[in-house]
Amino acid sequence: MFDAIVIGGRCAGAATAMLLARKGHRVLMVDRSTFPSDVISTHFLWPHGTSYLNRWGLLEKVLAVTPSHTELELVHDGISLSGGVPEDLLRQSFQQLHGDDTGVVRRYCSVRRRVLDKILVDAAGEAGVEVREGFTVEELLTEGSRVVGIRGRTREGTRVEERARIVIGADGRNSFVARTLKLPRFDERLQCTFAYWGYFSGFDAGRAHLMRRGRMGAAIVPTNFGQNMTLVFGPSEWSEAFRRDIPGNFQRALDFVSPEFGEQVRTQGQREERLYGTLDQAAFLRPLHGAGWVLVGDAGCFKDQCTATGMTHAFRDAELVSAALDGWLAGRQPLDAALKHYEDRRRSQSAAAYYDYVCTLAEMKPLRHDELQLFVSLRGNQEETNRFIATHADISPVSEFFQASNLLLINDAAKESSRGHAIFEQFESTSRQYLHNPFAA
Ligand SMILES: Cc1cc2nc3c(=O)[nH]c(=O)nc-3n(C[C@H](O)[C@H](O)[C@H](O)COP(=O)(O)OP(=O)(O)OC[C@H]3O[C@@H](n4cnc5c(N)ncnc54)[C@H](O)[C@@H]3O)c2cc1C
Repeated sequence: MFDAIVIGGRCAGAATAMLLARKGHRVLMVDRSTFPSDVISTHFLWPHGTSYLNRWGLLEKVLAVTPSHTELELVHDGISLSGGVPEDLLRQSFQQLHGDDTGVVRRYCSVRRRVLDKILVDAAGEAGVEVREGFTVEELLTEGSRVVGIRGRTREGTRVEERARIVIGADGRNSFVARTLKLPRFDERLQCTFAYWGYFSGFDAGRAHLMRRGRMGAAIVPTNFGQNMTLVFGPSEWSEAFRRDIPGNFQRALDFVSPEFGEQVRTQGQREERLYGTLDQAAFLRPLHGAGWVLVGDAGCFKDQCTATGMTHAFRDAELVSAALDGWLAGRQPLDAALKHYEDRRRSQSAAAYYDYVCTLAEMKPLRHDELQLFVSLRGNQEETNRFIATHADISPVSEFFQASNLLLINDAAKESSRGHAIFEQFESTSRQYLHNPFAA
């Protein structure tokens, strides 16, 4: 009998298992994958993501093989902003969520999942977790309506049954646990992005560049093995047309969003692997806990990749749920109270506002005139630029940056006018053009 069984062994699962084992609990973690391996995901980690790794003593291992930076470039319709997340906002965020801000670092990086997930799985094993790779969970064991364990199959086909005081579903957006328990999805947002990405060597992108133009987005971020993760994304309703010529449209999209990077990838870039992609990233929430079970990571909340926060949120869940379950397993708190505490942190007002922010961005509407003017106003105002970046990354609450008084202050302090920026010259006709699907025949 284990204290906890964790189904899924990546960002949410391996981290949760490791943290519970470090607190002295007996944990089994199973995953049908074997490691190292990738998943359908790009892998940008904001500074709170790297801060979690640092808190757990794993960041050094990641940064030994992964480039990292403190500043990045955001470009909206040609309007460029550079900056990084302020340390005080990072500290505030950790204090609010976890009551302590040890290990906070301002660095971001983009670490391949085959690298990161292996480091996490190994760390779980080193912490004393019993790790079973290549193990597929096929059934949940129940007593009455309470989940009490799992039944599954090893790589060799042997059927195995295991029991635990709690079963943790860290099994991703198509969660087996959620499907088996017939958990409803709520606050579903069907409008989302399609995304295609590849790995290119042959040029140095420097820091990360996150870009938008019209209804398309792109990102170029240095990653492991001397390569640049290069991503394009757009509204899901254009995905069918995009798919008719993936390599051609990938380059077309990049040329459109960033002619400079389009040229660099075309003339110097060597693609090292096939292009990866996904068409559907519709967002949803699920109930987070019930009798004998709890969900972490994408299993409990999936959202679009457009702000690249899923992995960091999986780490956040791991810390929150392991602290809550430790309180119960160690006899300090009843289970219901512990899980309610976890749920309150996960489903706070600011978490709801951020979910809404991501889902709205994922509709990929062309940026409005007033939104673009806001970006112009931010140029030359480093403090507010950094705060905007922290808001976009869910380090600082959306409601604080976008409150009317703050926008008025930004506007008053503006040093630049929109006149020098090409997007404003024929704004109306340009935004109308943006509505046409460029990949349609
Ligand atoms: C296109 C795309 C781009 C993204 N880009 C970013 C980004 O740049 N930055 C970022 O932070 N996030 C990004 N994300 C989100 C990120 O990938 C997820 O939020 C993150 O992987 C969630 O981690 P997880 O551990 O919850 O689930 P997963 O990583 O999905 O892991 C779930 C694990 O559960 C296992 N499993 C499932 N069912 C079973 C079963 N029955 N038995 C045994 N094992 C099982 C699977 O094998 C898998 O290993 C992106 C997502 C997509 C789709």
